[in-house]
Amino acid sequence: MLSLTFLGAAGTVTGSRYLLDAHGTRILIDAGLFQGTKELRLRNWAPLPIPADSLAAVVLTHAHIDHTGFLPRLVHDGFGGPTYATPPTARLLRIVLPDAAHLQEEEARFANKAGSSRHTPALPLFTVHDAQEALGTLAGVPFGQRVTLRPGIEFTYHRQGHILGAAAVELRVKVAGGEHVTIYFSGDVGRYDVPILKEPERYPGSTFLVVESTYGDRLHDPTDPRDQLADVINEAAARKGVILVPAFAIDRTQELLYLLRELVEDEAIAPLPIFLDSPLAREATAAYRCCVQEHDAEMRELVRGGVDPFAPPNFEVVGRVDESKRLNALAGPAIILSGSGMATGGRILHHLRHRLPDPATTVVFTGFQAQGTRGRRILDGEKEIKIFGEMVPIAAQVRSISSLSAHADADELTIWAGAPGAPPSRVFVTHGEPAASRALAERLASRFGWRCETPSLEEAVAL
Ligand SMILES: [Zn+2]
Repeated sequence: MLSLTFLGAAGTVTGSRYLLDAHGTRILIDAGLFQGTKELRLRNWAPLPIPADSLAAVVLTHAHIDHTGFLPRLVHDGFGGPTYATPPTARLLRIVLPDAAHLQEEEARFANKAGSSRHTPALPLFTVHDAQEALGTLAGVPFGQRVTLRPGIEFTYHRQGHILGAAAVELRVKVAGGEHVTIYFSGDVGRYDVPILKEPERYPGSTFLVVESTYGDRLHDPTDPRDQLADVINEAAARKGVILVPAFAIDRTQELLYLLRELVEDEAIAPLPIFLDSPLAREATAAYRCCVQEHDAEMRELVRGGVDPFAPPNFEVVGRVDESKRLNALAGPAIILSGSGMATGGRILHHLRHRLPDPATTVVFTGFQAQGTRGRRILDGEKEIKIFGEMVPIAAQVRSISSLSAHADADELTIWAGAPGAPPSRVFVTHGEPAASRALAERLASRFGWRCETPSLEEAVAL
């Protein structure tokens, strides 16, 4: 009558897709892309084990591509909607889905030109047209509002911090005897005591719980990121070089701008010229600025006082490509924030090609650098790196700020899960490397006595 199939984010952190079958009504919670190794990425080409048009609805937790990037393909394959998302998530999706589609099209074009694909012609997983069609299926649902999907099947969104609009999904399904069971999907759990967004709502209890475990076996660096950032910038500024920050467009860029403004105000760093050179991050920052309902008390206070929290002194947003190119003539000390966060694409590549050979340059990484990315190679100390087909020598200084993260660590996940409420009868620990998921499962089992499982990919369980 009630079953749950783990179609992604099982044994890995990407490809979040959970298929719930409730009395024959099929609901997909998240429609994420697999990212990372080639083996994982190839999974994106496999169709769902059920026809896309048999889905009654897709319910998205948040805008990250590993939770939403499969939606255009699903729509291409016949899913007609509705797709539910919180209004801020829907707003971010209008930025990220066409951008992801554009990248797919570009990659296919490049593969065809280089003859590097085994398939001729190489095709994009989805097109800009598919992304636009997917956006047409979106229905915005505010936090806390109950939505009836079918008689006896309802869901509610709960705030989860993490990034703008991020939610947990609480599904209520009527079962025999007029009773209800609840299935609570954590989505990605954010952190407490970080600026900008309201805090995650604690887990209220449910019959079943599906919880993420990205950092299930780790604790974040306890150093204040403000101190780390100030140290790195002061050291780099003393060399009079340019500070290149590969930044993730959503959340990390806004947090960096917020912290840089604070540091200048506190006179912890000099008011260096700061350039934001990322069209995607510019759009995301506008979304963060607008969604005032999501701001925490400190943000609201700043805005009320006439402060733009994301505009440090001497701040400039770079628009057109020729303006971006003009930054090549820029003399340090100055800061350039540009995407992408792992230097896998975007305008940061031009800046890296131009400035990596200069020993006065400092490259500052602000988040996890996945295996195989340029970011990881530079961080691992390689002496040269391939950009646009040519080898670029690396003489720049390389630093990493390890205390910035949008994910709860093992302690924070335990705080999130441990609020007094009905204990779950079964817990499924997902969205983590196998060791991280196992560690969180053991932690929750020993701390709370919960029955925890770490499902494998494509495993189906009867609830
Ligand atoms: Zn996420």
